[in-house]
Amino acid sequence: MQIEKCKHPTKCDFVGCSNLADYQLSTKGLLKRELAFCEKCLREMYVEIGKLQVPKAVEAPFKIKKRLRKEER
Ligand SMILES: [Zn+2]
Repeated sequence: MQIEKCKHPTKCDFVGCSNLADYQLSTKGLLKRELAFCEKCLREMYVEIGKLQVPKAVEAPFKIKKRLRKEER
């Protein structure tokens, strides 16, 4: 699954939104069709997703510190 910039002018797929889509969700056949949405709807979607899914810390803090120290040298 991949979100990419719209190459062709498409209308935003969200109901009640008349903006032109800036992004599209490329699912390579996972959805019936590719979903296109504008910047505003992307942000609204992100906020909603953020309520359900809290991003996990990828690395433990001590590992990040280690990497920073390496970059200082
Ligand atoms: Zn929209």
